[in-house]
Amino acid sequence: MKKRLFYPFFAVILAAALTGCNSQPPTYSRSFFAMDTLMSITASGDNSEQAVNKAAEKISQLETLLSVTLPDSDVGRINGGSSPVEVSGDTAEIISRSLEISEKTDGALDITIYPVLKAWGFTAGQHRIPPENELAELLQFVDYRQVKISGNTVSVPTGFMIDLGALAKGYAADTAAETLKSEGISSALLNLGGNICAVGSKSDGKPWKIAAASPFEDEDYVGVLEISDKSVVTSGKYERYFTGGDGKNYHHIIDPKNGFPSENGLAAVTIIGDSGVICDALSTALLVMGEQAAIDFRREYGGFDFLLVTDDRRLIVSGGVWDCFTASEGFTAVLAE
Ligand code: AMP
Ligand code: MG
Repeated sequence: MKKRLFYPFFAVILAAALTGCNSQPPTYSRSFFAMDTLMSITASGDNSEQAVNKAAEKISQLETLLSVTLPDSDVGRINGGSSPVEVSGDTAEIISRSLEISEKTDGALDITIYPVLKAWGFTAGQHRIPPENELAELLQFVDYRQVKISGNTVSVPTGFMIDLGALAKGYAADTAAETLKSEGISSALLNLGGNICAVGSKSDGKPWKIAAASPFEDEDYVGVLEISDKSVVTSGKYERYFTGGDGKNYHHIIDPKNGFPSENGLAAVTIIGDSGVICDALSTALLVMGEQAAIDFRREYGGFDFLLVTDDRRLIVSGGVWDCFTASEGFTAVLAE
């Protein structure tokens, strides 16, 4: 499996915050590995070290609830067939959010995709191209409408399994950001591998500069966003993929309508908004939906902005971030109509 580390592709420009000067509060930065991802949190404030450590601990706790590979996690127990399962408030909240977005995106996001993901070998790293009849069989177990949630009790029909990978990191970023704020932090940046959350502005009061990932090997990023107090989440075909015996690349975001990696001309989607979990859910869903459906979806629902990068290197930027986005050389941004 090829898996590109996020650093070069979702670079975060921190220089001003990290160099700091004496008049600014202390900045503490920590990198750690969780949810199969190298993560980093940087915070400024008198309490920054304790706050960052608490936030990192919160993310590790969430991982033990949400991991699809741990049999005792909430997700592991749901998938183990012992439905109905009593889950934590966090897990219930993520599942509820996912079902809302599934409904709005006509199932482009579907957490019950897990049996199909397994067949492609994305969970165990043993990649294969499943035959179409096998996919057709497995698609009988893919339907978010079959996930029932009442309070913290979740049930799925026999054979159904869920994977929260499309939105767990966004939720973790939101939770970690809340932890930082409750510790008195008002300036921080969380980078959870493609999921960025900016708390406030930089400690010098200027907006954070966030470089948005490029899906192309010859460019590190498609441009830079200047934002404060926002989440910025990218999904891309380039993040995890394998090359099949037929020479084609197969990536990890599956179109639940046919069980195949989405191929609709979109290479990457970055969503900018107030809620990390919603941005994360939408980045995955809009990549599956394709360019025109993504534009139509934003027109209908609003509440977020996007950068869409197409396979043929077009860059479509929505109105709310047009003025705070600078495209890299080699890309020409076009305003989404
Ligand atoms: P992200 O990087 O946030 O787009 O999430 C991608 C991950 O979500 C994949 O690695 C799978 O674990 C999972 N996934 C893939 N396709 C879908 C889908 N259509 N709906 C929900 N989850 C998906
Ligand atoms: Mg996502």
